[in-house]
Amino acid sequence: MSLNSKGISMDIIDAVNLLYTRSSQNLSSNNPVSELVTPEWHYSDSFQILDNTQINWDNLGEFDLIKTMIDSLEKATQPDTIVGTEFERSFCSWYQPYHYLPRQKWGVHLRYDSWMRVAALFYHSCPSTVGRKLDSMKSAFLYLYVHELFHNSVENAASVMELLLGKSHIYTKYYSDVYSNAFNSSKCIEEALSNGYLFFWAEECHIDRDFLKDELLKQGPGYHDFIQYSGGSSNFSKGNRILLCQIRYGNLNPTTYDPIEQLIDISDPIRYSSVYNVPVWLHRKPKPVH
Ligand SMILES: [Zn+2]
Repeated sequence: MSLNSKGISMDIIDAVNLLYTRSSQNLSSNNPVSELVTPEWHYSDSFQILDNTQINWDNLGEFDLIKTMIDSLEKATQPDTIVGTEFERSFCSWYQPYHYLPRQKWGVHLRYDSWMRVAALFYHSCPSTVGRKLDSMKSAFLYLYVHELFHNSVENAASVMELLLGKSHIYTKYYSDVYSNAFNSSKCIEEALSNGYLFFWAEECHIDRDFLKDELLKQGPGYHDFIQYSGGSSNFSKGNRILLCQIRYGNLNPTTYDPIEQLIDISDPIRYSSVYNVPVWLHRKPKPVH
């Protein structure tokens, strides 16, 4: 590959394509995300938001959609708790990996109504945003987005392994053999770490840390286990090491734990977002199921 970069995410995707072509392998169209997220939402119409916009606290406030959403915030159903807005588990947001076809909509997917509900909760109850509509909308966006960004960082780490080892299917094997089987259980370390990443960078999202901790602890198996990998960056690194070895060996309980945790980019989500430009898709209505 040349040094003419199209941006790091596109470069990684091109390199993964080339690896698959050279090893005469096809990208899989058997996308397991559609089995984790209900088809009503997974296959519903979505449109890209914030494209060509640098995502940061100030820029989010300039975004027209957020300005119009503020008007509905007062009327939005206010959940008592963040439970029910648990990312993939409640089909509120999910990450579509670029390792599967069709690839047009790889990236972070968010549901409009879930975003509103989290915003309503933050508006009424989160000490850092209470009574402030715009801030509540922005923090609610970051709450969903930052968790999903971590899933992109994990896929990128798997891609780096594939490229260095010259071996395709490391990510897809992990996804079907480890992640999908462990999903919704305390063994799902990728979900624990995605919440761990969100919790680690709570201040960047303007979400009160104690409030976030209490809310994330009420979430389901896997998700609430973020606490095991919080409390110091060494715990988080340890979790990343376990996850990366699960990916490398395609095994929930690998026999070797290589110190390769640096492969996951855990830099602050605002910086991460400016480097990787992960597309964001918004879903307004479920697709009717016949
Ligand atoms: Zn997740």
